[in-house]
Amino acid sequence: MQEIDTDYLVVGGGASAMAFTDSLLAASDARVVLVDRRHRPGGHWLDAYPFVRLHQPSAVYGVSSRPLGHDQIDESGPNAGFYERANANEICDYFGRVLDEQFLPSSRVRFLGLHDYRGEDGDGHHVMSLLTGEQTTIRARKLVDATYIESEIPSRHTPSYSVAAGVHLVSPNQLVDLVAPPGGFTVIGSGKTAMDTCNWLLDAGVDPDRIQWIRPRDPWLFDRGSFQPLRLVGSYMQLQAHWVEAAAQAEDGMDFARRLEGAGIFLRIDPDVEPQVYRGPIISTRELDALRTVERVVRQGRVRGIESRRTWSAATLGLIEATRDNDADKNRLTPPVTFSGNASDLLRFSYAAMSGLYARTSESDLAAWSENCRLNPASGAIERAGEPEVADAFTSLMTNFGPAMRNLAARVGKAAATPT
Ligand SMILES: Cc1cc2nc3c(=O)[nH]c(=O)nc-3n(C[C@H](O)[C@H](O)[C@H](O)COP(=O)(O)OP(=O)(O)OC[C@H]3O[C@@H](n4cnc5c(N)ncnc54)[C@H](O)[C@@H]3O)c2cc1C
Repeated sequence: MQEIDTDYLVVGGGASAMAFTDSLLAASDARVVLVDRRHRPGGHWLDAYPFVRLHQPSAVYGVSSRPLGHDQIDESGPNAGFYERANANEICDYFGRVLDEQFLPSSRVRFLGLHDYRGEDGDGHHVMSLLTGEQTTIRARKLVDATYIESEIPSRHTPSYSVAAGVHLVSPNQLVDLVAPPGGFTVIGSGKTAMDTCNWLLDAGVDPDRIQWIRPRDPWLFDRGSFQPLRLVGSYMQLQAHWVEAAAQAEDGMDFARRLEGAGIFLRIDPDVEPQVYRGPIISTRELDALRTVERVVRQGRVRGIESRRTWSAATLGLIEATRDNDADKNRLTPPVTFSGNASDLLRFSYAAMSGLYARTSESDLAAWSENCRLNPASGAIERAGEPEVADAFTSLMTNFGPAMRNLAARVGKAAATPT
């Protein structure tokens, strides 16, 4: 049996673990052991369907210390006019390089791939090699669970519904392996994977009438046009301004969502069906127009899974872990943001997210880091404060932030850490 002493044991080698570890290494001299059941870093992207891409620009995804992609704006296709989005191969290659070219040469990181974390006892933490069965005991100052939002991948889980004889059920990964044209396609689910699958089928020339879509509850979607960084950062600042303005006035989660829809930030698939789900997927209006051509929609069943923008949060956690000593401070700066996926919880979600943002912005080192962090979509906005879209957003934010925190605090029943 092997034994390892380290400062941090990070369970998981996905995007969250990598972003956290990167920031931790940059701001401390900590040693880290990363453990993952998969053989390489990258998490669920290693198993993703072949036509998957990030929802958001590559420019604000990954780890803080290394750019992903070339910050180019696409000139054609459904993402035209917006910053490029990496596919799964690019993302896996990227995280592989972060490990091989940065983490391992630092001599402060060990990566135990194909190892399962089995828990802790008086001796330490236990992991087991899935190749050899060898057990390793790890003694660490801190355990970091980076499996918290482990993404459910259709190719890796068994359906929770029964499948009738004669029905050919495949995961999106297997669509590219068809050897004969099926009679039609039934896509199950309301999440980004289902939307990506419909869009891919339509883009590949499948007639919308040959697609049936079982969409239990419709999701609210972000307009990708509002989620652009760098020289299009004005769009993102407008998103922030509308978000805070809605937070100042909303009476409940659904009212909040409707206000964002009125401001052009939130979109719905079917104009006649009000979404009930909020999980944060981002879509372009071209993709949305294509999805609306699928008219055979069945509404039954239930929704699974959670999606969110993770790497900026994980990088922030890594920095705060490295630079703050006491747990009360850490919790104040990064209050837990519970993500139920229900639009009705938007006020609670916003209150936690905005409290953390306010607390961090009030500490000069964190504010400076955030302003320069490539994962922050608002990074660079201060330099562009002369642009009308950005200036207008700053004015709105200054007017509405205090009222928003007071309104949210009152409605979710908590005392506000409110700016005066
Ligand atoms: C189609 C799609 C598109 C997305 N697009 C975006 C986007 O544009 N922007 C964005 O921010 N997010 C996006 N997401 C969300 C995405 O899930 C996150 O960006 C991120 O990849 C999640 O990483 P993670 O590390 O939290 O989880 P995972 O990638 O699930 O990694 C968790 C890891 O923990 C390991 N693990 C679990 N249990 C154990 C154990 N006991 N022992 C050892 N290892 C263990 C697993 O093997 C896994 O590798 C998207 C998600 C999907 C499905």
